[in-house]
Amino acid sequence: MALIQVENVRKKYQLGQTEVEALRGVNLSIEKGEFLSIWGPSGSGKSSLLNIIGMIDSPTQGVVRLDGTSINGLSDKEITKLRNQKIGFVFQSFNLVPVLSALENIMLPLQIRGEALKVAAEKAMHRLEEVGLSNLAKSRPDHMSGGQRQRIAIARALVTDPSIVLADEPTANLDSETSQNIIELMRELNERDQVTFIFSTHDQQLLDSVKRRIRIKDGQITAEQGEAE
Ligand code: ADP
Ligand code: MG
Repeated sequence: MALIQVENVRKKYQLGQTEVEALRGVNLSIEKGEFLSIWGPSGSGKSSLLNIIGMIDSPTQGVVRLDGTSINGLSDKEITKLRNQKIGFVFQSFNLVPVLSALENIMLPLQIRGEALKVAAEKAMHRLEEVGLSNLAKSRPDHMSGGQRQRIAIARALVTDPSIVLADEPTANLDSETSQNIIELMRELNERDQVTFIFSTHDQQLLDSVKRRIRIKDGQITAEQGEAE
């Protein structure tokens, strides 16, 4: 059974009188442990698709199944719980909370889950060590470089031990050397723990590093390279 099954998903946005069809019948099956990228020009529907897979947004039509279970029929509360259990997010602009330290940022998803502060701090510290930044535990994001911020964001995405990490253009704001380091870090975590990584990108460097590429254009998948392992 696929980890993620996207079936005939359509997404329409209403902008005043105008309707935008961001996704026009997307079908996609993703297995556990994949390291794959959805790529295509700006406006092609990459973020819409990631947001729907991540249950941040719901499809206008179609079904998304996680471990075989459709998320369509779930209540908001069930969706929030499932998202917190299964999915970690990494964003282009890092989305760290500026008034919190690195460690506190990483602790947040665990606190949302209601874990004890001490346990949350220990888990967060462990993830911070993993991304090589334990010396910055008390630093705030605005004192850090882009690469450091993205490492913190990756630690935050992984602190709940999710099975899926969704990363929307994670290297778009980084120079190529920093990007390469971030990509290698994610690849290691993918190999070691079989965490499924799904990227949206148009960064060639990231595209060269993935095992599977799915091309999207005008809300439709147009081509695929590389096979699910
Ligand atoms: P990408 O991530 O590939 O740049 P998006 O998924 O962000 O593409 O956008 C796909 C299309 O949907 C674009 O035409 C965009 O303008 C439109 N769109 C995305 N989000 C919204 C929204 N919240 N409201 C209205 N239109 C949107
Ligand atoms: Mg986007």
